[in-house]
Amino acid sequence: MIQVAINGYGTIGKRVADAVREQPDMEVLGVAKTRPNFEAETAIEKGFPLYAAVEERADQFGDAGLEIAGPVEELVEDADIVVDATPSGIGAQNKELYEEYDTPALYQGGEDADLVDVSFNARSNFEDAVGADHVRVVSCNTTGLSRVLAPLREAYGVEKVRATLVRRGGDPGQTSRGPINDILPNPVTIPSHHGPDVETIFDDLDIDTLGMKVPATLMHMHSLNVTLSEEVDASEVRDLFAEESRLFLIPERMDIDGSGKLKEYAHDSGRPRGDIWENCIWEESISTVGADLYLFQGIHQESDVVPENIDAIRAVLGEADAEESIETTDGTIGIGL
Ligand code: NAD
Repeated sequence: MIQVAINGYGTIGKRVADAVREQPDMEVLGVAKTRPNFEAETAIEKGFPLYAAVEERADQFGDAGLEIAGPVEELVEDADIVVDATPSGIGAQNKELYEEYDTPALYQGGEDADLVDVSFNARSNFEDAVGADHVRVVSCNTTGLSRVLAPLREAYGVEKVRATLVRRGGDPGQTSRGPINDILPNPVTIPSHHGPDVETIFDDLDIDTLGMKVPATLMHMHSLNVTLSEEVDASEVRDLFAEESRLFLIPERMDIDGSGKLKEYAHDSGRPRGDIWENCIWEESISTVGADLYLFQGIHQESDVVPENIDAIRAVLGEADAEESIETTDGTIGIGL
């Protein structure tokens, strides 16, 4: 059994912990938090050993009636791998800790690409992470773009990508984020940083991205234009995407007109937290004009990177190849709407 430590038990960390628990070859050794709150309490209720991430604040857990298993150093030392799911920039500070105990580590998309040996997307470059010590699971948006581009590159070749990312202002729990009543070009500079991030997965890709932020919390929305290397009928692209387990093609008959109904559907289907691990592509939006492909896709920012973290664990430890790992992950957490 792979013993997995999760350092940072927030939006991403708690979802990764639940997904690890579903895997036949993995166990949650423990989760580390900086302070007691509702997430610390549910970690205990779920039976995850809780470790103190910051020594000076460890007493706070006892004061709140929460039992601590030990300091984060102990967790890191005993683990086969650490999933660092701390806020952007903290992962970089934690790298030294993981190196000290010689424990391989996964970081999240908020960290810089140059922190790690490999930036990772299971469908696109699983093999690059085999045996690596420091791997970054790319951001929710980069994951969403990579999953679409990998099959297109293989099937037709890609000349140029242009994407506009309409980004949620914050996650539902991020009460201090915004905008509340505005539409922001964000970042206002063009191209946005997302394109170069996708290039950490495909280094020979020509991609320009533009970002906006809107008063929404549920999902991101991508408007995508891909110039393929050949003219392709839209129905062929639909067939190609239908073969991809992490691309959900929203059928017209479902009458899902946006991210609100998508999330409602996920809740109705009984998914944990209403999570949608797959890219959600409106099937009718898939259109071609000559060699230009167009589509709209919704990306559930809180959960699409979760299966990628699970696959990255197996890649780093050399425990499975891409196909085996993706199949196991998909089957155990319930991917495939
Ligand atoms: P979050 O704020 O929800 O959770 C982070 C957790 O780490 C919190 O519980 C926080 O208390 C804890 N923490 C802070 N400092 C710590 C430390 N020194 N040691 C241990 N824990 C510490 O953040 P998140 O949204 O889960 O983001 C985590 C990472 O995942 C970031 O790199 C982010 O960019 C990336 N990411 C986030 C999303 C998203 O939409 N939320 C999507 C993809 C990737």
